[in-house]
Amino acid sequence: MAETNAAKSAPPPAEPKRSWGDQVEDAASSSEAELKAPAEPKRSWGDEVEEAASSSEAELNVDALAISEDKKVNKFLDEPEDSNIKAVTTGDTPYTSASTFEDLNLTPELLKGLYVDMKFHKPSKIQAISLPMILTPPYKNLVAQAHNGSGKTTCFVLGMLSRVDPNVKAPQALCICPTRELAIQNLEVLQKMGKHTGITSECAIPMDSTNYMSIFKRPPVTAQIVIGTPGTIKKWMSAKKLGVSSVKVLVFDEADHMLAEDGFKDDSLRIMKEIQRTSAHCQVLLFSATFNEIVKNFVSRVVNDHNQLFVKKEELSLESVKQYKVNCPDELSKVMVIKDRIFELGENLGQTIIFVRTRNSASMLHKSLVDLGYEVTTIQGALKQEDRDKIVKEFKDGLTQVLISTDLLARGFDQQQVNLVINYDLPVKHENHSEPDCEVYLHRIGRAGRFGRKGAVFNLLMSEKDQMLMEKIERHFNSQITQVASWNSAEDFKGALKAAGLL
Ligand code: ADP
Ligand code: MG
Repeated sequence: MAETNAAKSAPPPAEPKRSWGDQVEDAASSSEAELKAPAEPKRSWGDEVEEAASSSEAELNVDALAISEDKKVNKFLDEPEDSNIKAVTTGDTPYTSASTFEDLNLTPELLKGLYVDMKFHKPSKIQAISLPMILTPPYKNLVAQAHNGSGKTTCFVLGMLSRVDPNVKAPQALCICPTRELAIQNLEVLQKMGKHTGITSECAIPMDSTNYMSIFKRPPVTAQIVIGTPGTIKKWMSAKKLGVSSVKVLVFDEADHMLAEDGFKDDSLRIMKEIQRTSAHCQVLLFSATFNEIVKNFVSRVVNDHNQLFVKKEELSLESVKQYKVNCPDELSKVMVIKDRIFELGENLGQTIIFVRTRNSASMLHKSLVDLGYEVTTIQGALKQEDRDKIVKEFKDGLTQVLISTDLLARGFDQQQVNLVINYDLPVKHENHSEPDCEVYLHRIGRAGRFGRKGAVFNLLMSEKDQMLMEKIERHFNSQITQVASWNSAEDFKGALKAAGLL
């Protein structure tokens, strides 16, 4: 990572607004800023939920569905094929795993998008197993858990693109995501994959200030697929600009967070109910790398008669990403580890994301690194929409190498060149700071090692509390995280990066 004299930086504002995924110091709860003024009184949606119909549940033997082991396309990739995904289906629809994209009866236009534009060769395991479930009538609901970076986006994007009737010029598929960044990213994947299909799509996210136009002044949405954040989608629906009577696929990306009490549960359920009320049959697809027991139970109640794919939490950590912990005596030494031990090892490392817990922490670390002459950018929820978009674009275009982020980018953010994640602060639960947030931890470290690539994670620990949090995370995933012997030893860090396959 190049040292520069004129450090370029987007100064993080001091504005103390709060939104999901990043907190101002000691903020107790989270919610996307755009959702702050609910028009309707808060209702308990869980009470309206119908009891799940416990139809004949059959466990599929996923090993029998194994993809034939073709030659590996790239020997440096540990393709995420050997992951252990368990399937539970309801009813008696038979599903066969797809070993090629041709097996899925996709249109020639979609196959072209997959092979030519996406440059994919064959489906990953989650794609092979979930796509037949998504694309086979009677189009059952699906709750699908699979590892970070294993290609879940393709599952629901192909699901949406395949179900759209090109002759109906109205929204037919809706995908809801927790952040604008993820909505934009998913729309980009959809547009690339669906390039030859002529299917139209639109992003429903808060408008940036320069292009602002009141929703009431806009024509009704005719795009066949809409991807957005819950607040904006709800707003468009309430304003009757987004009609949902033709919607036949509803996707929740990062679904556990979309349905969590401290996430977007109310909005998600409201949107789901409205669609179920007005549209004849809508298939609900829920995707995430994590579904804790509470969310899993809740999902079983709201989304009735669904097929399921899931992974044990002990098997969720990516083997291709090596995790380390480093004891640092004080805060300055954490900055020095980043600067002298990690950045000094130079360009070989690819891109890096440094996660911090609070906006204050983000601003402080940003300033420390810029003062030391490093070029870093920082993203957090208090930035203006257009600045957020610009910072993400620069990072995705490879113009910046190091990005400091709050948990705004912890989930879903896909940049294959990221092979290093640094946890400057460990993630903790909003309501109890002495408990680690193991799900956020897993999502953060999953920003490295996309689709089987190699990666390393450094957890910087400073206090006994940090060590306790780390131990709890280790226990949760039943895995031992390797200690870097000395924060001050260049050799130790070199060794760690070598062992991770990065040097
Ligand atoms: P996640 O499961 O975490 O949502 P993504 O859908 O973001 O993962 O995919 C991770 C990366 O893997 C993306 O960069 C995507 O382009 C790539 N990818 C997905 N499916 C395939 C495939 N079948 N072949 C090659 N690369 C793929
Ligand atoms: Mg994803």
